[in-house]
Formats: sequence, structure tokens, C-alpha cells
Amino acid sequence: MRLSRIVVASQNPDKVAEIEAVLAELPHPIEVVRGLQWPDVDESEDTLAGNALLKAIAVRRATGIAALADDTGLEVDALGGAPGVHTARYAGPHATYAENVAKLLAEMADVTDRSARFRTAVALVDDEGAELVVEGVLEGRITTVRRGDRGFGYDPVFEVGGRTLAEMDADEKNRISHRARAIHALAAALRSDL
Ligand code: IMP
Repeated sequence: MRLSRIVVASQNPDKVAEIEAVLAELPHPIEVVRGLQWPDVDESEDTLAGNALLKAIAVRRATGIAALADDTGLEVDALGGAPGVHTARYAGPHATYAENVAKLLAEMADVTDRSARFRTAVALVDDEGAELVVEGVLEGRITTVRRGDRGFGYDPVFEVGGRTLAEMDADEKNRISHRARAIHALAAALRSDL
């Protein structure tokens, strides 16, 4: 897969910058094109990889440029892998982070097995339509109460090595995160392809 420029299918500037930094270190650096528009993509697949690929294919079609998309889910073992693909909307279609966290803690009120993981799927579709999908995983545990005021989403209740992600500074979280691991897996796959 040979690429010189891509569009990142995200409106989140922090996410785009994080991805750009990793792609800039490749032997053949890939430029991230900004300022393009695309229609909303319905995440209708039942896997993270399927949804990431759906977004990448749609954004490549809309922009005419190779596209990269990601999709993240929280998988709780005691809940059979839920909320999974429904992570963003666990407590309802317009749920806030606080509402999602409250629902998770309520669902797990009597649960002793607190093991869980964040999983990020990253999909890339190149100029010729070739597809590449990789994943990054961060193992952890769901706490019984919120701790820490940094980060976003489920960070205050996701514990790794005794601290929640919301108790870590951004640099530390970004070094170990599921998203960082997926992006580095993508860079490794692109490197081995050259
Ligand atoms: P997305 O696919 O990146 O939009 O993530 C889907 C949902 O997963 C978000 O709405 C958050 O609730 C949650 N999420 C994703 N990444 C993180 C993270 O790094 N920490 C906590 N929650 C996250």
C-alpha cells in the first residue's frame, strides 16, 4: 500500500494531530489533508472494524483521497463484551459522558469481575481502494467510583495499574492508549509493506 496523502475521517483535531504525528515518522511520510467535508456516516456494522472500514470507504468516496477512520469501544467481560459498538450511545442516542458512566456503574453494581478493555479499530483505504484494518487494545478494570478529572468518556472509571486514565496526564495516557496502539500498529503494517 503506497500513500502520499490521506484524509482522517474525524472532526476531532486532537485525534487528527495524534495520527499525523505517527504518520510523519514513516520512511515515506504521509501528509494529512485538512479542511475537507463529507456527509455523516451511519455506523451500522456490528463490529468496530466493520464501522471503521465503513467510515473510511465513505470518506474516500466523498473526498477522492485515501482515507483513515477509527472506531473505539469499551468491552466489559462481565457484561458479555458490552457496551462494545454501542459505547458512545450506551445510555441513549444523545447520552453525555456522565450518563454513560452512570449507567455502566449501575449495571456493574453487584459485579465482582471488573475486567474490561478499550479496543480501537483503525481502517485505511488507499487510492486504489485497497483496505487495511488493524486494532489496538488497552486492558484494564472498571472501578466502583469515579476517580480523576482529566481525559474524557469513560476515563474516570477505567483503571490501569492502580490509576484511572483520568488520573494520568495526557502524555502518559497517549503513550499507552488503545488509540495510540492502533495507530502504531497501522504504522508498523505500512512500514513492512514498503
Ligand atoms: P470513538 O469511536 O473514538 O468516537 O469513541 C466512541 C466512544 O468511546 C466515545 O464516545 C467515548 O465514550 C469512548 N472512548 C473512546 N476513546 C476513549 C478514551 O480514550 N477514554 C475514554 N473513553 C473513550
